[in-house]
Amino acid sequence: MKQLESQATGSLPGVPWWRALLEERWRDRLQLVTELSLEYHDAAAAAPGQGVGGPGPALRRLMQEASSARRALADTDEALARLAAGRFGRCESCTAPIPARKLRAEPEARYCARCAGPAFAGVGQYAAVG
Ligand SMILES: [Zn+2]
Repeated sequence: MKQLESQATGSLPGVPWWRALLEERWRDRLQLVTELSLEYHDAAAAAPGQGVGGPGPALRRLMQEASSARRALADTDEALARLAAGRFGRCESCTAPIPARKLRAEPEARYCARCAGPAFAGVGQYAAVG
C-alpha cells in the first residue's frame, strides 16, 4: 500500500488533483470560446457589408473577447501538457517551484513570482532544460 507515495510532493496536491482542476477549467474555457465565436459570427452575419471603417465597436469587442478566450484555453492546454511532462508547478525560466497559493489561484502560471515580474512580461524566453 504505497500508492500515496507519489502524491507526497510537499504542500502541493498530487497530479490527479491538478489534472481534474485543469480539465474542468479547460472545458469551461472551451465552452466560452465556442459561445463567443458563435456570438461573433451571428453578429457579423447580422451586420453585413460593413466595408468602410471596419467592424463596429460591438463586433470588435466580441472579436477581442473571443481571441483572449482562445489564449486562455491555450494556456490551460499548455498547463496540461506540462503536467503530463512532469514539469507542472515549476518556473519555466529558473525552474524554481511556483508557490502552491499562486498555482491554486492560477494553475496556468508558468513563472515564479520573481520571473513573472513586469520586466519579464512578453519576453517569451524559455530555459533550455536538457
Ligand atoms: Zn523563475
